[in-house]
Amino acid sequence: MATAVVTGGAGFLGSHLCDHLASKGFRVVCVDNLETGSLQNVEHLRGDSFTFLNHDVTEHLAVDEDVDVVFHLASPASPIDYLRLPLQTLKVGSYGTHNALGLAKFKRARFLLASTSEVYGDPAIHPQPETYWGNVNPIGPRGVYDEAKRYAEALTMAYHRQQGVDTCIVRIFNTYGPRMRPNDGRAIPTFLRQAHANEPLTVFGDGSQTRSFCYVDDLIRGLVLLAESGEHLPVNIGNPQELTLLELAETVIRVTGAKSEIVYEALPVDDPQVRQPDITRARQLLGWEPQIGLEEGLRRVLQATQRESLSV
Ligand code: NAD
Repeated sequence: MATAVVTGGAGFLGSHLCDHLASKGFRVVCVDNLETGSLQNVEHLRGDSFTFLNHDVTEHLAVDEDVDVVFHLASPASPIDYLRLPLQTLKVGSYGTHNALGLAKFKRARFLLASTSEVYGDPAIHPQPETYWGNVNPIGPRGVYDEAKRYAEALTMAYHRQQGVDTCIVRIFNTYGPRMRPNDGRAIPTFLRQAHANEPLTVFGDGSQTRSFCYVDDLIRGLVLLAESGEHLPVNIGNPQELTLLELAETVIRVTGAKSEIVYEALPVDDPQVRQPDITRARQLLGWEPQIGLEEGLRRVLQATQRESLSV
C-alpha cells in the first residue's frame, strides 16, 4: 500500500485530496494544525489507513512510516486568513516548505507544492501561462501570501536542482466546492451564504474584474495526475472559463433562485483585475482539462450543503 502525506489535509482542498487518495487505496497521513482547517472535514476517514497528526509544519516534520508522496498544501489561503495571519503565512511558506521538502528528501518521496495563481500578481499577460514571471507588490498586504508562495517555488526548485528531490509545482487557480467555510471571504462561499439568506450579494469595485473558477473534483484530479507524472516545472491547474465577478453574482442568484439584489463595495488593495489560466501545459503533459462547468459545480455545492444540513 502506497503512503501519501498531505500537509493542510484538514482544509478545504486537502480534505478532498485525502478522500481521493483514500479511495485510490493510499494510506494517508494528514498533517494539520487546524489553523483554518477542521477535523470535521476528515472525520469520515478515520480508520487503519488514515492517520491525523495535529502538527504545525513550521516545526520539524517526521513520520514513522515509509512515504511515497508528500502533498504540501498547508498554508492560509483565503485573503481573510492570510491578512489576519501575515507572519504565519510567511513562515509556513518558508520553514513549512523546508520541513515538507526535508521529509520528502529523507523518505525519497515525490513532492508536490500547492502554489497559486497569485504568484502572477496583477498580470500584464492574459491568460497567464507558466512562463510569465508575474507582477507582484512585495510590500502590499497581499505580499505575505504571494511572496511566501514565490519563495516556496524557488525553494522547491533548489531542493530539486541541488538535492535531487523529485518535485513538482502546481499553480492552483480559484477553486470551489463543498467544505469551503461560508465566512472565509472568498467570492463563491460568500455569494452562496448571502443568496441562501436572501441578503444582497456584495461585489467589490464595479464587478468587472474577472476570475476563473474550477470545481474541486477537477482540481484534485489534476493534482494527482501531476504527482504521478515526471514533471518538475510549474503547471497551471484551473478552469479557463472566465467571467466577471458581476456575472458570477448573477449566476449564483440564478442557480440558487435567491431573491437577492447586488450591492457594490470598495475594491481591496492590489486586487488583480484579471485571472485566467492558460492550461496548454496541463493538457499536453497530463491530458487534463476541467469537466465540470460553473452552474453544474454550484449545483453540486448546494446539494452537498443540503445533505450536510439534513445529517446534523
Ligand atoms: P484551507 O485554509 O482550507 O486549508 C489550508 C490548511 O492548512 C488548513 O487545514 C490549515 O489548518 C492548514 N495549515 C495552515 N497553516 C498550517 C501549519 N503551519 N501547519 C499545519 N497546517 C497548517 O485552504 P485551501 O483552499 O484548502 O488551500 C490549500 C492550499 O491550496 C493552500 O496552500 C493554498 O495556498 C492553495 N491554493 C488554494 C486555492 C483555492 O482556490 N482554494 C487557490 C490557490 C492555491
